[in-house]
Amino acid sequence: MLLEVSELDVRYGRNHAVKKLSLSVGSDEIVTVLGSNGAGKTSLLRAIQGLCPVASGFVRFDGEDITNMTPPERLRRQLALVPEGRQIALSLTIHENLQMGAYCRTDGNVQRDIDAIYDRFSNLGARRKMPASVLSGGEQQMLAISRALLARPKLMMLDEPSLGLSPLLVERLFELIVSLRKEGIAILLVEQNTHMALEVASRGLVMELGNVVLEGSAAELRDNDKLADAYLGHAN
Ligand code: ATP
Repeated sequence: MLLEVSELDVRYGRNHAVKKLSLSVGSDEIVTVLGSNGAGKTSLLRAIQGLCPVASGFVRFDGEDITNMTPPERLRRQLALVPEGRQIALSLTIHENLQMGAYCRTDGNVQRDIDAIYDRFSNLGARRKMPASVLSGGEQQMLAISRALLARPKLMMLDEPSLGLSPLLVERLFELIVSLRKEGIAILLVEQNTHMALEVASRGLVMELGNVVLEGSAAELRDNDKLADAYLGHAN
């Protein structure tokens, strides 16, 4: 497995946000983490990226124990996060935002990779010198994903990427996620859009109050009555 999380605990004082959670992601998989607000999904991804402290448990990535590594050390090992709310630097140019995604790289191919992003997303290329604030919500999400791509990730984690996007853009976003997997990037996808997430993922798990309450193949989860009652009824 590319990513192995074992008995991970995240605590904020008395608030136990993630409780003894274990999960794995293979190098050719999309795995989705579902659950309502406050279930602990963001805390899980942030802990895997090293952005919030792990109280106990461990995280292995690509054969190495990364539990105590800093976020840049994890980024250098090609583990990247597209954070909740995109976190684009709106006053910086599109180009500068992309450069930020490559800040841990020391190879000489960054410009080539940025050019490839501009070829892929012509909306970004055409406005590379403009502040990122000119972009629509959907374009900002593409920029956030592109920024993560510049870490040349083996695994990309995405935290609710479809939030706030129109149905058409949500379709495009999920197509992009599938094509990234086909290009060899494993995906760990946190989503509230249960329908779409289970369409693209091979496996999933459902979190509630920091615990995994359900897990299985995407087909099993789609057919699960409990999940249908709790989430599918009011998914987008
Ligand atoms: P959402 O979809 O709303 O982001 P989530 O499933 O991602 O929800 P988390 O954001 O991980 O859940 O939150 C899990 C719990 O941890 C919640 O009770 C939340 O209030 C708490 N929490 C999250 N971040 C912090 C923090 N920095 N300090 C204290 N408590 C926090």
